[in-house]
Amino acid sequence: MAESRAPLRYTLRFPAPHTHYVEVEATVPTGQKPVVELAMAVWTPGSYLVREYARHVEGVTASTPDGQGLRLDKSRKNRWRIATNDAPDITVTYRVYCREMSVRTNWIDAGFALLNGAPTFLTLADDAPRPHDIQLVLPASWHTSITGLPAVPGGAPHHYRAADFDTLVDSPILAGNPAIYPFEVDGIPHYLVNEGEGGMWDGPRAAQDVAKLVRAHRDMWGSLPYTKYVFFNMITESGGGLEHKNSTVLMTSRWHARVRKDYLAWLGLASHEFFHVWNVKRLRPVELGPFDYENEVYTKNLWTAEGITSYYTDLGVRRANLCTDDELLERLSSMIERLQTTPGRLVHPLEMASYDAWIKFYRTDENSANTTISYYTKGAVVAFLLDVKIQSATAGTKRLDDVMRLAYTYYAGEQGFTREEFRALASSVAGIDLRPWFISVLETTEELDYTEALDWLGLRFRPAPSPTPEKAWLGLITRTDHNRLLVSQVHRHTPGWQDGFNVDDEMLAIDDYRVLPVQWEARLTQYQPGDHATILVARRERLVRLAVTFGTEPPRRWILESDPGATTAQRTHCTTWLA
Ligand SMILES: [Zn+2]
Repeated sequence: MAESRAPLRYTLRFPAPHTHYVEVEATVPTGQKPVVELAMAVWTPGSYLVREYARHVEGVTASTPDGQGLRLDKSRKNRWRIATNDAPDITVTYRVYCREMSVRTNWIDAGFALLNGAPTFLTLADDAPRPHDIQLVLPASWHTSITGLPAVPGGAPHHYRAADFDTLVDSPILAGNPAIYPFEVDGIPHYLVNEGEGGMWDGPRAAQDVAKLVRAHRDMWGSLPYTKYVFFNMITESGGGLEHKNSTVLMTSRWHARVRKDYLAWLGLASHEFFHVWNVKRLRPVELGPFDYENEVYTKNLWTAEGITSYYTDLGVRRANLCTDDELLERLSSMIERLQTTPGRLVHPLEMASYDAWIKFYRTDENSANTTISYYTKGAVVAFLLDVKIQSATAGTKRLDDVMRLAYTYYAGEQGFTREEFRALASSVAGIDLRPWFISVLETTEELDYTEALDWLGLRFRPAPSPTPEKAWLGLITRTDHNRLLVSQVHRHTPGWQDGFNVDDEMLAIDDYRVLPVQWEARLTQYQPGDHATILVARRERLVRLAVTFGTEPPRRWILESDPGATTAQRTHCTTWLA
């Protein structure tokens, strides 16, 4: 259907890339309509925030092929209505300012261009699928372009074709002079594309490790469902990742290749985004498609899309033999610690954290920790508990892998799954009715119960050491700004919350003795938990004295370790889980 319609054809030029602009010339088929409407997406799938991409579009013009100017009007913030004068095709030109270094926006400078579909391409607002062709005209000093899109057969260099607009949005393009490391898995070409290696990043080693991740996830799912895959590794000053059907954009620091902990985090990022090849890009919650690029879309199922993926993030690194059991346990422990020390877990149920992603997770502020919980974090911990629950209920014969594979068999593609279908499927694999448990962990703010998982695996939370030396604690999160110590978050039920601190209070003195930011931590060691003191702060230009009673910093309580008393059976379960 899409292929039979006339394509939109775009030519992209970069006459002055240091000014961060791409110039777009689009040939738009009118279908002989007197008026056509072009639209730009307001958000991009996988990143749940209205980003108003049209705000970077300027200088939109329209003309007939023989150069006759056409009347053009804006009809919405992101739409342009054009009178066609009955021309079969019209030419539309515009510029896009591209200087936001993130996985879901555009960046252009003298060295390279990273272009995403949603912030770049105006398309016909008629909802009819049709091919979109892209021809890049590169500056003389740029030698390469790469994308998950196929090249147009017999076309010029840098000429690609997306079967439809969804594919175009799902296919970022990088142009410039990146280092490209090709490798094959199952005879399918893969590319690790490093932009900004700069002598700091070991490209060949990273490519070998990424190939191991590809094999590990392939082993779980059964086969690779694409004919080409590109890892765009943007070694820039930004972070994050975004999944696509046959590529991913990763952003990382150039200093993340040399310290093991940081490199493991990068492998985790690659593992996470690659797991999305199946979970979310091909097996998705029913609400996440087909996409309406102009309106928000709500789902309670981001805990499966992102939480389950986050659980497999580190498991994938372990299965690829790129980390140790202890390193995996440490990563899982940190996730549990983060969940159990975030007050918002007692306010916002996991499914609602998913539903409210647009106004909570993607709009975090100083109070977010008190009011919500990340569906990545709690979702991953719930996925861990679900995995072990299934293993325990089936005497170790089944696990979450089986649920995901079965879900893929039933619901992959255009169909998608509902929350009820996922719960029923997990119950059928476990052989027990898991729905009451799902209600508790997904729909309520009840604390998670780790007992069953720890019992099955022969693990325990390491007994908390007593803090030494005892130090006064207020529980405030602070930041230093221009040599001023400022409160940045006040977490519920901490001494600082009870004693009346506000966000943006500037700490000036304890018991009327001046404290500089560098002295703050040392000064607190002069006091004991339970001591009273007065803290002078500057609040919106006025000085305020707060009477405080110091508390005790809670010890780190959520570190998983083998239980010394674990039975042979429990140790076997643990080995099987990690295998
Ligand atoms: Zn993700």
